[in-house]
Amino acid sequence: MKMVDNCITLEQIKKSASSLRVLRPAYKEFIDFYEEFFIAQEEAKTQINLDAIAEELDNQLKLKTDNTTPLISTLDFVIFQSQAEVLFEKICKIAKEKGSPSLSSAAEKISQLFFINSSTSQSCNQIESYKRIDNIFKALLYNDHKILETTAKSLELNKDALIFLGFAAISPYIQTYSTQLSKYIKTEDSYTKGSCPICSGSPQMGYFNQNGDKYLICSFCQHRWKTSRMGCSLCGNREKGKQHYFFNEEEKEYRVDLCDNCRKYIKVIDLREITRDFYPPLEMLCTIHLNMQAAEQGYISVL
Ligand SMILES: [Zn+2]
Ligand SMILES: [Zn+2]
Repeated sequence: MKMVDNCITLEQIKKSASSLRVLRPAYKEFIDFYEEFFIAQEEAKTQINLDAIAEELDNQLKLKTDNTTPLISTLDFVIFQSQAEVLFEKICKIAKEKGSPSLSSAAEKISQLFFINSSTSQSCNQIESYKRIDNIFKALLYNDHKILETTAKSLELNKDALIFLGFAAISPYIQTYSTQLSKYIKTEDSYTKGSCPICSGSPQMGYFNQNGDKYLICSFCQHRWKTSRMGCSLCGNREKGKQHYFFNEEEKEYRVDLCDNCRKYIKVIDLREITRDFYPPLEMLCTIHLNMQAAEQGYISVL
């Protein structure tokens, strides 16, 4: 099987971050932190053994004889445990040094619990089982909030920070797996649902490409799929008068699609309006004000 290459270079991320620092000075500190964070993730991708993924995929897809979507369940994504643990440690270090005060203190605690004192014997076996990183990664794949909540509570950790940092550590593996899987999708052109054809995740943002085609990007695996330009990208409603959007004069490349049927919103960027490299995680971050504006108007996030 021919492997699909990752599509953005570290240099492009750096350039995109530099452009956004100039365009959105209010986000400078955010960008400084996340640039390092995202580079660590992209670097991790370069270490992934694509042949091992190919073998896994061949086995998984042999079992699936139909051509329906989503292709796989989120539980079927393959995480390279030891590599993901190394990235987890690295990401916690970056968050400790450059993250917000609350994220920084959570990252410090995670580092101490999982990486510094990991060989220290604990009196309580229960705590030891919560301290197993593979269990945390598994709960993240299962989206099992109950386990994550119990884990965070027993380790006296902030649950949101644990989820955020843990998911960041497994995300490169999920994305790479998804990229390889994307070549098996045969229904892409006619797929107009508001969920990912690979994993059924919700879209985190949309974009218009150079031809004016509209695409959505999965919040879980980052797969990009084509969707209809008409109607709501999320619920498919096409009733007249139910779809609206707003944009700000100073950032015309963005608009926020609003739907009065599902009451949800999604940010959409027009790539014909930008010259910077398009790196969705950075774009998502530097447009948080748009989420706030949509929420003020009474719409809810799709995520
Ligand atoms: Zn997906
Ligand atoms: Zn809708």
